[in-house]
Amino acid sequence: MSSIVPLGTYRVIDSDDGSAEVEAHMEFIELAIQQANLARPIDTAFSVGSLLVHGRQIIATGFSRELPGNTHAAQCAIQKSKSATLSHFVQGSVLYSTMEPCSSRLSKNTACSAHIISAGIREVIIGVKEPLTFSECKGVAQLREAGINVVHLKVLEEECLKPNVHLLL
Ligand SMILES: [Zn+2]
Repeated sequence: MSSIVPLGTYRVIDSDDGSAEVEAHMEFIELAIQQANLARPIDTAFSVGSLLVHGRQIIATGFSRELPGNTHAAQCAIQKSKSATLSHFVQGSVLYSTMEPCSSRLSKNTACSAHIISAGIREVIIGVKEPLTFSECKGVAQLREAGINVVHLKVLEEECLKPNVHLLL
């Protein structure tokens, strides 16, 4: 990425202060957790849920392995958003993900961070950083380098990890 792009901000929210902003983030992360729970658990990848949101409207949802081809949650939401009614809102939208988007993949698949950057998403809200089970994830760093603001909503971390307890070290 060009260094001309200003670094995206990174903010941690670790308590529910009752503000409208935190309430909205919690509501959408809870919906993303419901998506994560739809993923079939496997031993080689996390179960993650994602939502693409414009204002208060959900453009598309996604969960791990939802679409064929060993897909990831953010990848599915972005792919599905292309044929969604609100597809014209994807650019500038907010992505909610129960877990930090991946930064590299062993397979030929494109990493979620690259999908997010090329879709023109402006802000990413994550429920938990990716645990070190498989690799060291640099998703947050890559998004910020592309000028995307990242919020780490720690309030629902336990619920975001729950579909993945069999994978935690
Ligand atoms: Zn991914």
